[in-house]
Amino acid sequence: MRYCVIGVLLSSVCPRDDLRSRPDSSSAERHVGHRVEVTTPDPALSARTIELALDNVAQGGKPFACIVVSAEDGDVLVEATNQVAQSGDKSAHAEIVAIRELASRGREDLSGCIAYVTAYPCPMCLGALYYAEPDLVVYAASREEEGEHYEDGGRYMRLLTFYDEYAKPVEERSLPAVRGEVDDPTVPFRTWTAEHGDE
Ligand SMILES: [Zn+2]
Repeated sequence: MRYCVIGVLLSSVCPRDDLRSRPDSSSAERHVGHRVEVTTPDPALSARTIELALDNVAQGGKPFACIVVSAEDGDVLVEATNQVAQSGDKSAHAEIVAIRELASRGREDLSGCIAYVTAYPCPMCLGALYYAEPDLVVYAASREEEGEHYEDGGRYMRLLTFYDEYAKPVEERSLPAVRGEVDDPTVPFRTWTAEHGDE
C-alpha cells in the first residue's frame, strides 16, 4: 500500500499562485526549507482505517484505527486499533497504540509521517499527536459525525464537550484538581534545564 504524494516541487519552478490554483482543495501544503511539498490524502488509506475499525469491533474492540505512513514514500509504518476493551488500558486509543509501537521500534516522533485516523482525534490523542508531530493528520469522520452515533464519555466529560472542558480554568473543570503543598515544586524543572539547556 502506497501513500499518494502528488508533488514535491521546488518553489523556483512552482510559484505559490500555481499551487493555489490546484483543483484539489484538500491538498495540504507544507514548507520545508526552500521546498513546498503538496500531499493529497489517499482515500484507500482512509478506507483502510474504517476497515480496521470494523475488524476491531468484530473482535470486541472499539471502532477506531490509526495508520501511520511515511510522508516521503508512502510506506505503511504501522496499523493500530483501539485496544481499550481488549486491554483494560483507558489510554490504549489507536493513535496512542501506534505512537507506542513506533517508539518501540526506535522512532521518537512522527515527523515525516502522516497519521490516518477513523475519526478526528479525541483530546488525549490530539495532545499526543501534538507531541509526536506528524506532518499531517487525515481523519475519516469528524467529531460531530462520530458523536451522532457513538458516546465514549464518562463521569467527567462527554465527547462533544471535551474540548470546551480543556478551555476552562482549572478550578472550573469537572475533573477535580487542587494544588499540593510542597516547598520547591519547580526544582525538577530547574535541574533538568540546568543540565540540558533549552533542547
Ligand atoms: Zn483518542
